Amino acid sequence: MRLHTQIFIAMALAVICGAFTSVDSSFLGVSVLGTYDLIGTLFINALKMVVVPLIMSAIISSLISISGGEQLGRLGLKTLAYYMMTSFVAILVGLLLVNLMTPGLIDGAPAGPSLGLSADTATTLAKIEGRGAGDFAGIFLALLPPNIVQAAANSELLGLIVFSLLFGLMLRKQTGTPAERLRETVEGFYQTMMMITMFVIRFAPLGVWALIAKTVTLTGSDAIGPLAWFFATTLLALALHAFVVLPIIIRVLGQRSPWRHFKAMSPAMLTAFSSASSAATLPLTMECVEKRSGVSSGTSSFVLPLGATVNMDGTALYECVAAMFIAQAYGMDLSLTTQFLIVITALLTSVGVASIPSASLVAITVILGAIGLPAEGIGLILATDRILDMCRTAVNIWSDSVGAVVIGRSEGEENILLYDPDRLEAEAERS
Ligand code: ASP
Repeated sequence: MRLHTQIFIAMALAVICGAFTSVDSSFLGVSVLGTYDLIGTLFINALKMVVVPLIMSAIISSLISISGGEQLGRLGLKTLAYYMMTSFVAILVGLLLVNLMTPGLIDGAPAGPSLGLSADTATTLAKIEGRGAGDFAGIFLALLPPNIVQAAANSELLGLIVFSLLFGLMLRKQTGTPAERLRETVEGFYQTMMMITMFVIRFAPLGVWALIAKTVTLTGSDAIGPLAWFFATTLLALALHAFVVLPIIIRVLGQRSPWRHFKAMSPAMLTAFSSASSAATLPLTMECVEKRSGVSSGTSSFVLPLGATVNMDGTALYECVAAMFIAQAYGMDLSLTTQFLIVITALLTSVGVASIPSASLVAITVILGAIGLPAEGIGLILATDRILDMCRTAVNIWSDSVGAVVIGRSEGEENILLYDPDRLEAEAERS
């Protein structure tokens, strides 16, 4: 049975299991929720364990495998241009829908008073304080960590990427035996990391089952109730971006079938959905893009680690919709200037947001501050955050993978999405 079929079945089973579990259910004296949590955490830990060595060796090996310096510069510029462009379009899609559907108004009046602030707002604010992209300077500071080991320990991927880029650039300039040996060692290290990744991925159905069962147990559907219209607006905007805008980009710029790529990426997207972390999903994203969509390892190992950290279409869109919703609910006058400020702040903060669950909340408080609203405003959206986080993370990695296809195609890679993903993967496994 193919991996994505297994994950689908696991998700369906998880919804059933979660629906029959309450927070204090136990089986033979063992907490059921605790068991879901343990299995889910083990899976996420295994993925996180490979992330740091994987992205570092991937970036360095990609830099040394790309031939001329000119090709490298072009690849870098194209990647950044693609990421900025799609995040910007995503924000505009969100802005359009939030203006059309006005989820923060009830019968034309601000919905704030009737929604009430969630009780755990203060706890959440305390938790996210000082984490991630606290302000604009923070984004730049994250680019150059003073201590590379500490950055790795704290999963500060942006700093690690900059270090790996520098390392790769310098290594490719060197000639002589020591440099040659080091290049071979990095290549061997990278191949080994990919094998460990493939091994961990075999457990994806079990991990996804546990993560979803836990979420269903903890987040009953009644959480959505009062926020239904905000929930619908965000989902519609995410769907529009993922199923209309990005497929058009694959079709027009990549000249390939969006549906085939969607099929190829399904295991990674389902994992992103269940884990709500693009960083933890990165090993799977790389595996699917290379083995199922046929993008060369050189392109994907450069484009994807960068994408997982700086390109977050779903997050950027969500930040915009959420900030606009809160502003509407507070009865704020949303002039064009304010909306412009929201768009720009959402674009910049989406680059600095960490690729971990709920990271957007930090960015949203930054936007609220920029437009003059109290940070407590995020209390309005806490109840639905987890489910929307799962959806926006899937969109984040979908956009990264579309970037790998478009950039690979623009570099003249003919093999991308030429064959059915299942067939391609089966052939790769056989050989
Ligand atoms: N969970 C998201 C990610 O990992 C970030 C966020 O929007 O909170 O991509």
